[in-house]
Amino acid sequence: MSVPSPSLDYREAYPCPLCRRGQISGLALTEAFGCVTCNHIFTANLERQSVQLADSSPPLTWRWQGDRWQVGSSDRDRLGWEVWLVAIAFTLLPPTIVGTMAYLFPPLSGSGLQWFPIVWTGMTFLAHFSLVAWLILEYYQIPVLLYWQTRQLRWRSRLARFARG
Ligand SMILES: [Zn+2]
Repeated sequence: MSVPSPSLDYREAYPCPLCRRGQISGLALTEAFGCVTCNHIFTANLERQSVQLADSSPPLTWRWQGDRWQVGSSDRDRLGWEVWLVAIAFTLLPPTIVGTMAYLFPPLSGSGLQWFPIVWTGMTFLAHFSLVAWLILEYYQIPVLLYWQTRQLRWRSRLARFARG
């Protein structure tokens, strides 16, 4: 793969921001780029040096940084440290409380429920962590689902090639 151009241009090819495997290049007579690997079309805005995935809702945007893509538009605010603090507190506080309670008031020995506080603490952590992770992924528009679908498509086509011999 050749070194991509520092600025977005229809005559150049760039790594695909979605599947990260293929390359996107300008489609003839359009203001769009296409990826031959995942078959997605990206409408381009050369002024803003950004591409937008045409067939997604909400629209996903990437800005070309000269050597890599940055998710989201530049005017989108980054998450402040207060948000991260709340996110960390929301993730860690409940399991800490549950764990502390379980430590202070352990189940009666021999009750057969010795495992329960540990499992409950772990489940509390997982529930809160996945909620926070989901919100962050949503905020940064990280296309987990599309990326996963693309990978599945690749595996399927590879399987099909393998089956054909
Ligand atoms: Zn692609």
